[in-house]
Amino acid sequence: MSESYPVTRRNKVVRRHERGRYDRATVHAILDSALVAHVAYAIDGQPYCTPTAFWREGERLYWHGSSASRMIRFQSAGVPVCVTVMHLDALVLARSAFHHSVNYRSVMAFGQARLVADETEKRQAIDGFVDRFYPGRSHLLRPPTVQEIKATSFIVMEIEQASAKIRDTHVGDDEEDYELPIWAARYQVRQVIGEAEPCPRQHPDAVEPVGMAPYRAGRTLDEVMTEAARMAGYSDGT
Ligand SMILES: Cc1cc2nc3c(=O)[nH]c(=O)nc-3n(C[C@H](O)[C@H](O)[C@H](O)COP(=O)(O)OP(=O)(O)OC[C@H]3O[C@@H](n4cnc5c(N)ncnc54)[C@H](O)[C@@H]3O)c2cc1C
Repeated sequence: MSESYPVTRRNKVVRRHERGRYDRATVHAILDSALVAHVAYAIDGQPYCTPTAFWREGERLYWHGSSASRMIRFQSAGVPVCVTVMHLDALVLARSAFHHSVNYRSVMAFGQARLVADETEKRQAIDGFVDRFYPGRSHLLRPPTVQEIKATSFIVMEIEQASAKIRDTHVGDDEEDYELPIWAARYQVRQVIGEAEPCPRQHPDAVEPVGMAPYRAGRTLDEVMTEAARMAGYSDGT
């Protein structure tokens, strides 16, 4: 498999093309450090874009939902989708409105969504949905009931093409504007994990599992997601 995704008109970054990347390592790193994706699809010409939890296994992206949901029922048939992930890293305030910007890491991934119909693959997806985020947790839980399994459907998409786009610089003003006495700055933005708040009805014998080790208060969510994926074997480091 080549190190980069194939580039066509569909995924070629045109605007600010120097920010575009197509190598799998960059795309995977952005995906693996996220918990939420936005899945876009069109039903009868009407675009919808649904935010949902997702995870990556190799070149496959998985997400799930109620078997009765419109998104799941529509995507089960095998339809084109575009999955996006975005990390907002900084607000960048320039000396002109035009040059205000943000730092970010984002991915757009394209492929065909389809239902996970195979029973074995569905069982793996049920565990994967828990273990990818909370390593080893599926085996500590009450097993899902037949009704729970029936009520839940999983969608999988093989990544056919993808692009990443990254801005990670400082203020970029017109040269003459640097002389102006206008406050310009960059503000870092972080989504941070808080302290664990044990359930008020916690069983006295319940202890925090080792799989929760990445979730230390004060760490950023993307660091935690990346470490959890590695720990659970859902990231090959590429
Ligand atoms: C948090 C955030 C805020 C942004 N704010 C603005 C804004 O205010 N104004 C603005 O113009 N743009 C903004 N962008 C950039 C925006 O996402 C688009 O890249 C840009 O608008 C160009 O869109 P386009 O359809 O013309 O891109 P084109 O370059 O024509 O898109 C062609 C292909 O390039 C790839 N591509 C384009 N954008 C991205 C992306 N962000 N991530 C991954 N792949 C991409 C896709 O494969 C796409 O199909 C922002 C991005 C982020 C993440």
